[in-house]
Amino acid sequence: MKRNALASLVVLLLLVLVAFRPASGADVRHEIQFPNLPGYQTVKCDLHEHTVFSDGNVWPPVRVAEAWRQGLDAIAITDHVEYQPHKDDVPTRHSRPYELAMDAAKASGLLLVKGAEITRETPPGHFNAVFLKEITALDTKEFLDAIQRANDQGAFVFWNHQGWQGEEKGRWLDVHTSMFDNKWFQGMEVSNGDEYYPNAHKWCLEKNLTMLGGSDIHDPDLRQKSTSQDHRTMTLVFVKEKTLPGLKEALLAGRTVVWWKDQLIGRKEWLEPFFQQCIQVRPPHLRLDKATWVQIRNVCDADIRLERAGDMGPAKLDLPAGTTSLVEIAAGKASGPLELKYTAKNFLIAPGAGLPVVLRVPGR
Ligand SMILES: [Zn+2]
Ligand SMILES: [Zn+2]
Repeated sequence: MKRNALASLVVLLLLVLVAFRPASGADVRHEIQFPNLPGYQTVKCDLHEHTVFSDGNVWPPVRVAEAWRQGLDAIAITDHVEYQPHKDDVPTRHSRPYELAMDAAKASGLLLVKGAEITRETPPGHFNAVFLKEITALDTKEFLDAIQRANDQGAFVFWNHQGWQGEEKGRWLDVHTSMFDNKWFQGMEVSNGDEYYPNAHKWCLEKNLTMLGGSDIHDPDLRQKSTSQDHRTMTLVFVKEKTLPGLKEALLAGRTVVWWKDQLIGRKEWLEPFFQQCIQVRPPHLRLDKATWVQIRNVCDADIRLERAGDMGPAKLDLPAGTTSLVEIAAGKASGPLELKYTAKNFLIAPGAGLPVVLRVPGR
């Protein structure tokens, strides 16, 4: 009996310790390892999130805590302007999510962008407006009035989840042409949550629209960290300075890559330097009569899948995130530099098209 009582006391003490553990014990951030580009810092953004102020299921500051913990640098809470299913309990107050999240954002050094989702029938579809000054003005009858008012405030506007109700409902219509001609939207989500939209990707390339990826999360995001296998859909933005104006400038200039599942999606112009910064090819450490051995390091948090496009090197090279791979090249005793031509299969420069890359093995 006595031993049981002691055991109970120990269990009770442990429970008390767990319950009253200082909050800071859980407040750790797992940085996402993606390289900066020459002249630019890489900012990890999720500009599409919901809270209880529309149809989401979390209180606004929770969005900041999740993003910070998972290594993101910037978020926008973009509750629906026209749709508040919780309004009997949480009244319609368009700016409250931003105001409520601001203290947490300041305290954690996260960039918080003021935003909203203009939510009408599809077509024409849903559009996010970020860098808004004031949201209530978008609560107006005509769709195009809402879009124009967002632009009047200097917002960055993008077309969300283009194909979510099928390609037929996501097709490009006259209304999109007139918005595009007026420069009333500047980007599109090529990925949203688990989905990828090849047409959005194609149109971004053709029409020089900025590519974005967003989580569109409604429920709490319980991930502790972002890994190659498990991370939210996000946009990597290459900024000259890590501030809100710096972020907006980079978005308007289209300097983005989307991290969606095991894919990095973007313009060749940005994926190419990004790839070069992710990979380090060491000088060969062993040269035999028939083979040369090198180590190739992938310093980023995304796995990289390469397929040979030239005549030298292994047919396939899988370089897991944050690891070094030992590579045997059938190249005899050559002492000069080697050029291995590959296609980075999961660096999408167009729908279905991987990025052509050259791995340069230094000579002696
Ligand atoms: Zn939507
Ligand atoms: Zn949404």
